[in-house]
Amino acid sequence: MQAYLVGGAVRDELLGLEVKDRDWVVVGATPKEMLANGFKQVGADFPVFLHPRTREEYALARTERKQGRGYHGFTVYSAPDVTLEQDLKRRDLTINAMAKAENGDLVDPFEGRRDIEDRKLRHVSEAFAEDPLRILRTARFAARFHPLGFSVCDQTMALMKRMVDSGEVDHLVPERVWQEFQRALHEQAPEAFFEVLRDCGALEVLIPELASEKVFQLAMAALGCVHRRLHAETEERFAALLSPLDAPVAKDRGKALKAPNDCQNLARLVTAFTPQIRDIDAQSPEAETLLDLLDQADVWRRPERFSQLTKVLECALPGDSLTLDLLRTASEAATGVEPRTLLAQGYKGKKLGSAIRTERLKRIGDAVAPTNH
Ligand code: ATP
Repeated sequence: MQAYLVGGAVRDELLGLEVKDRDWVVVGATPKEMLANGFKQVGADFPVFLHPRTREEYALARTERKQGRGYHGFTVYSAPDVTLEQDLKRRDLTINAMAKAENGDLVDPFEGRRDIEDRKLRHVSEAFAEDPLRILRTARFAARFHPLGFSVCDQTMALMKRMVDSGEVDHLVPERVWQEFQRALHEQAPEAFFEVLRDCGALEVLIPELASEKVFQLAMAALGCVHRRLHAETEERFAALLSPLDAPVAKDRGKALKAPNDCQNLARLVTAFTPQIRDIDAQSPEAETLLDLLDQADVWRRPERFSQLTKVLECALPGDSLTLDLLRTASEAATGVEPRTLLAQGYKGKKLGSAIRTERLKRIGDAVAPTNH
């Protein structure tokens, strides 16, 4: 049997990037032989073997057949006669379909190295069309390698368009879509992920309201702004993305994507606040109105949510906003109340909860009171 380094590790090594995970493919072996060689089997769906010493993952060379629509319609199988080339052929992009032998030789049947040099994201074969998740993966790699000058090549973009037209994207399960969204939101240039999805038509299927040019530009500006802040969390990035949408639409999209509750909640708050802040601004800001708004939204309950809200709104509402200034002040004031201090003063249980509420609302009230401005 022979083992080859494959996928992301080979790609990243050629790009001169740090290699984090090393995945291996083993050709010419059975599960029994792997176990006999001291490997430990993990993974329920498809057996992967952990190296007894390095703990790196070794998979038996596999190939696949498609049966139905969408991600679930595959049968993947391995056998000792599945070749390395067959295994590489079922991969998505040429830059991900290279292998390195133990003697250092590069196995590159689909010219991934050339595409690395040309900065192209290109599909390995027409079989790419069998799994719509690959559209999202391609968009995600575009977002990761955008700063290095990578883009999706024309033929792959055309293939992705045909896949979208044939309805493949409608059959993706929300969990897989969310997983790719979540990762993409943290890539080097998250905007590039959504540009690729827009260009191939997938965005029109996944979040149709974002696909119109004006809304798209607003969403990208907000997302780019949040992304440039240090340590932006997933929920802040997601809320920025949905910020130009109407609140009920944002709610539906968050649900449909099965985004985690924190992401849905922040998006809901941001989209509810944005038009209201615009209104208050237009009528000259009043601390009272803002206080009402804050009280209704219960944001004082969780100061960390409050400061996330402020951060996203700062990106979603560019330009001067006196109301936003007040909100920022209010957020800082609420964060200043530490449950620890109140605990030390002898508050416990329910009393502690209401003491925190009273103190936070008082501080917010003092901070945004007209006399202070
Ligand atoms: P990362 O740095 O994000 O881990 P990676 O390339 O290692 O990048 P993985 O998701 O770990 O990405 O996948 C490992 C390899 O498996 C990929 O390089 C690719 O060759 C292949 N692969 C993963 N998912 C798919 C898919 N849906 N279709 C085709 N090939 C895939």
